[in-house]
Amino acid sequence: MRYDLRALADPVAAAQPVSSELSLTGRVAVVTGGSRGIGRSIAEALAAKGAAVGVMFREREAPAREFEAVVRDAGGRAWAGQCDVGDEPSVAQFFERAADALGPIDILVNNAGIARDAHVLFHDRVKWDAVLSVNLDAAYYCVRAVVRGMLLRRWGRIINVSSPSARLPLAGQISYASSKAGLEGLTRALSRDLAGKGVLVNAVSPGLIETEMLEMMPESARAEHLKGVPIGRTGQPHEVAAVVAFLATDAASYITGQVIGVDGGLG
Ligand code: NDP
Repeated sequence: MRYDLRALADPVAAAQPVSSELSLTGRVAVVTGGSRGIGRSIAEALAAKGAAVGVMFREREAPAREFEAVVRDAGGRAWAGQCDVGDEPSVAQFFERAADALGPIDILVNNAGIARDAHVLFHDRVKWDAVLSVNLDAAYYCVRAVVRGMLLRRWGRIINVSSPSARLPLAGQISYASSKAGLEGLTRALSRDLAGKGVLVNAVSPGLIETEMLEMMPESARAEHLKGVPIGRTGQPHEVAAVVAFLATDAASYITGQVIGVDGGLG
């Protein structure tokens, strides 16, 4: 493919996206935890590029329905469904319902995540199991629900939402850091299984992003953490969503097995 540089002479054309490779028209995406926070922004970014988007929520139905309504009012296609992503049979049923509503799934964003930070002495089995289940096991369940169809159609994108805690954990994060390190391992290993078959697998690693999850972090810990962020501020959900949406497009056709930091330079 060659870029048409003649458009540079025309200011109106030059302001348009350089390539239809950046469009997601005709694609179907599902975002877990798409009701709010980073997942909601990702769902909006994918819909803005023309994808039909399904969002999974756990308990907050109202914002998920609002997303559905906003996209439909704008002429797009959206669907929202309830599911506990840590429950494998429910996940399988959720993806059947999503495909019935929107069509076969081309793009999966494993975004749903929780944290239950506590010192190891208080990090009981309930906390450990909850975090590993939602942040890691669930990604495996969702991948298994969609990957066969992606391989048959020889096109797919799987994008996992990790965290710098995979490599630079804070105190108290034994379950969260382990789950995200596992998710990055899953990303790399899965990319090897699927590379060359049209299905690309990557992760993004957001830094301190302004969502409800960040509100749980004590102000002192947040200030301390910000000192290590070269850009010197927290990020916004849409700044993560823009990278995920790009990875979902054909323009990202030579990127797989990567963990891309969207973290203000945290490194
Ligand atoms: P939020 O807490 O704002 O939103 C979490 C989302 O996940 C909600 O949509 C929630 O649904 C959903 N969810 C939680 N548990 C389940 C479950 N069992 N089944 C289905 N859905 C579930 O989180 P963020 O937007 O901040 O985080 C999104 C991702 O980004 C997570 O994976 C997180 O680890 C990661 N991340 C976040 C950072 C940050 O600074 N915010 C930094 C690094 C990584 P419902 O609304 O129904 O409760």
